[in-house]
Amino acid sequence: MSQKLRSLGYEVASGPGDGNSEKCLAAVIHEKADPELELTASLIPDHKVIVLCENRSFDFRIKAARLGVSALVQHPVDLIELEGWFSDFDRDQQVEPKVLIVDDDDIVAEAYAFALQQKGMRAETLSNPLKTGQMVEDFCPDLIVMDLDMPEANGLDVARALRLSRPHLSLPILFLSAEQDEDIQHQARQIGGDDFITKPVDLATLTNKISIRVSRARDLRNIMERDSLTGLLNHVNFKERLAAEVGRSRRTGSPIAVCLLDLDHFKAVNDTFGHQVGDRVIQMFANCLTGSLRSVDVIARYGGEEFGLILLDATPEQGARVLDGIRRSFSNFLFDTDDGPQSVTFSGGVCGLEDASTTEGLLGAADKALYEAKQKGRNRIVLHSQLEQR
Ligand code: GH3
Ligand code: MG
Ligand code: MG
Repeated sequence: MSQKLRSLGYEVASGPGDGNSEKCLAAVIHEKADPELELTASLIPDHKVIVLCENRSFDFRIKAARLGVSALVQHPVDLIELEGWFSDFDRDQQVEPKVLIVDDDDIVAEAYAFALQQKGMRAETLSNPLKTGQMVEDFCPDLIVMDLDMPEANGLDVARALRLSRPHLSLPILFLSAEQDEDIQHQARQIGGDDFITKPVDLATLTNKISIRVSRARDLRNIMERDSLTGLLNHVNFKERLAAEVGRSRRTGSPIAVCLLDLDHFKAVNDTFGHQVGDRVIQMFANCLTGSLRSVDVIARYGGEEFGLILLDATPEQGARVLDGIRRSFSNFLFDTDDGPQSVTFSGGVCGLEDASTTEGLLGAADKALYEAKQKGRNRIVLHSQLEQR
């Protein structure tokens, strides 16, 4: 098991205290090595713990859950499932939760923000509710704390307005209100208000409620938005992100590079080595992209063996240069098969807002450039702007 994980590029330490526990993504324990879950319990305060178990009863699950175990994985281990947990933990470690506080009373809002920041969250405040839409686009919060009673607009109306956009349907909203009016609370729940807190707010209760909701919302969003094989954004959500990034790029003037990548002769990989090896190559390619690009860049599984990228604050030329580096290193990467180590290449098409102005237009332009890369012999990156010069 350790060896398998190492071959996938994970650093593996084999006992407690053996690795750098601060940077440790997870402790993986086989229940046979710890039947009473004593070691597990001792590791839980500082680690995410995954217990590998064989056909254990629901009682055992309850015991594990009570202790605070993060995941139970059935033995023999499906590496794809295990890696899915790793990438969830990794995302949680890397990205601090973002909370937007909409309240016309800035002193109160700042006090909430400070309390949340002390808990390791990023909090922004907004005193004018009419700016909520823009702020949500720019800040992309994981949760909104919304005052109900504000002079410019009622919090319920602001929430209703947000819910008119599909990407904001699942954004958690926690309402704050000075009074306990059953009817208003009922309306808030109808809009999908996730909770209702009465003012004056106890800051400890507020931060607790928020951290629980943010972490649950993130888990659910990952399941909804992400592809299960690679953990990357799925097709639908890639297009939604692209539309948002196109809007942002127009407003701020900061460039974006839109790229479509496709593995070369991938059908032959499946036909020769089997579908499972094909799946592993797709995962390796996803890991290679995630490891090579910045955390702000958007990486998606666009379809089967096709991937979509949005490189932020990069011109298409800069994007193509970065991709060409990834192309070279990926082509040297070897994966194991029954016939010995093999390599795969990919082709890519890149464009930017100077090539097309709509989401569909950009995807069409990147696809045209990708088609040209395939025609020219594959294992290369083509800029859409180069096509039109010819
Ligand atoms: P080209 O260089 O022109 O892109 O050739 P290709 O063989 O890669 O392209 P083609 O579109 O003919 O075949 C794509 C193959 O990718 C066929 C399909 O079975 C495989 N594929 C798509 N999704 C998956 C997947 O999730 N897992 C595996 N193992 N294979 C997949
Ligand atoms: Mg292909
Ligand atoms: Mg294809």
